[in-house]
Amino acid sequence: MILRKQFLEHVGQTSPSPMLVEVARAEGSFFYTPEGKRYFDLVAGVSVSNVGHANPAVVRAVQQQAADYMHVMVYGEMVERPQVEYARRIAELLPGDIDCVYFVNSGAEAVEVALKLAKRYTGRTELISMKRAYHGSTHGAMSMMGAPEGEEWKAEFRPLLPDVRSIRFNEFDDLKHITERTAGVLCEVVQGEAGVRLPNEEWLKALRTRCTEVGAMLIFDEIQTGMGRTGEMFAATKYGVTPDIVCLAKAFGGGMPLGGVASRRDILNAFTNNPCLGHITTFGGHPVCCAAGLAALNYLVDNRVVEDVERKGKMFEESVIRHPRVLEVRRSGLLLAVELGNAEYLYKLMDIFKEVGIMSDWFLYCDTAFRISPPLTITESEIEECCTLIYTALDRL
Ligand code: PLP
Repeated sequence: MILRKQFLEHVGQTSPSPMLVEVARAEGSFFYTPEGKRYFDLVAGVSVSNVGHANPAVVRAVQQQAADYMHVMVYGEMVERPQVEYARRIAELLPGDIDCVYFVNSGAEAVEVALKLAKRYTGRTELISMKRAYHGSTHGAMSMMGAPEGEEWKAEFRPLLPDVRSIRFNEFDDLKHITERTAGVLCEVVQGEAGVRLPNEEWLKALRTRCTEVGAMLIFDEIQTGMGRTGEMFAATKYGVTPDIVCLAKAFGGGMPLGGVASRRDILNAFTNNPCLGHITTFGGHPVCCAAGLAALNYLVDNRVVEDVERKGKMFEESVIRHPRVLEVRRSGLLLAVELGNAEYLYKLMDIFKEVGIMSDWFLYCDTAFRISPPLTITESEIEECCTLIYTALDRL
């Protein structure tokens, strides 16, 4: 109780009604309060804890790297093994000729870097994003929040970046707005905060073609979809489209704060001259975070975790869709939006979830659906138990 009071007094708040669940520890698919109450974690830190909480391989890597060395020098000057090895592995797994990673601290910073890079490489200024897109909360990333929903969040922070426009996701007709003026087009492969909106694969391909035709950089935001969430290591591979630039964060750090911008060496080299130091970040690519991210990636690969993601996602989908309160389930791998079509029900459900021991959430632009995005390591028996709890909660609506 005292800690909660001090949290409200001394920790900067972003919400008028924070969840206020105190965490004592977390393990696998669960976290626990000091009183020992267990919660199924259906948020996973918003698609972060893909390898499960307190994954021993990640914990070992963090401890080892912290003992070897932590921060030594501003990013990009020293040769640090965790960065080098992680960048090499990521380059192997990303599609096309992407062979280089610029490390940063977070998703929003990765987006900032990608936008600057597109402008710098093309020498153009216009940036295009999708309506209902979410790319982060810094000024540049916020500028790319697509109207109309994004407007509600950014209106009070204007003026933001100039020369930005948004087009409709999955609308072929809107691709004509991408022109020789366009530096970069930023697109989530699956729109997360819009409430899990899946791409039309033909449209994604047409988007690629249009960007190539006019010489605009296609930037995929894989911050929420990356590292196995959709059932492939990257959603770009799942939907068969290769971007010029990929933004990574969230699960990329294996539970530690880390972001990355992956692209071709010659594109990323635009930051090295006229002026040099095109983006400076002190802590970007922190060795402990890179060691954690690499350990998490190796865990996913060695244990073939991603191969089971589609089947596990389907188990959730087939179970919850049978409940009469559920109108629709939108899903890519283990990223699900369960649509109730009613915000009041949803808020009530969140309270019931808390009582029965489930942590879920709604989406920034969609408060009529709840989120299922657990650690990818969740087991089949855990999914069955969790679905029974979800049912019990939905019955009480
Ligand atoms: N892009 C997407 C698709 C996201 O979902 C998020 C965060 O939710 C971000 C970018 C921003 O990442 P961060 O919160 O690390 O800045």
